[in-house]
Amino acid sequence: MVAGVSDLILVRYKDQLKHPRWQRRRLEILERDGFACVRCKNTEQQLQVHHKRYVPGKMAWEHADADLETLCSDCHEAEHNKPSVLAGIPDSIRADLSEAVRVGDRIAAQELTKKALAMVKA
Ligand SMILES: [Zn+2]
Ligand SMILES: [Zn+2]
Repeated sequence: MVAGVSDLILVRYKDQLKHPRWQRRRLEILERDGFACVRCKNTEQQLQVHHKRYVPGKMAWEHADADLETLCSDCHEAEHNKPSVLAGIPDSIRADLSEAVRVGDRIAAQELTKKALAMVKA
């Protein structure tokens, strides 16, 4: 699975998802979406709350309603398996970015992400 740039910025993200504040935020979104996947309307599958985008510097639970949506595990997996913007960027940046993420240097990761996105757009 190829992670998106936004996924890479927040490695520590997994820790945030254990936070009680995320658990509460997650419930708010599930409730808003009627405890059903917004794509396939499935209510039987395991439901997960997906971040449509990550705003740098914001905690998982600090994201606006518009940035969050309820997906079943199938649709969620499909969403994250979409071709990544990272696919088009040079290995040099990709390697640096992975390293910055690995050591948890978010400032460097954000700078590299900016650089990468500028290159992708160019
Ligand atoms: Zn997601
Ligand atoms: Zn679904």
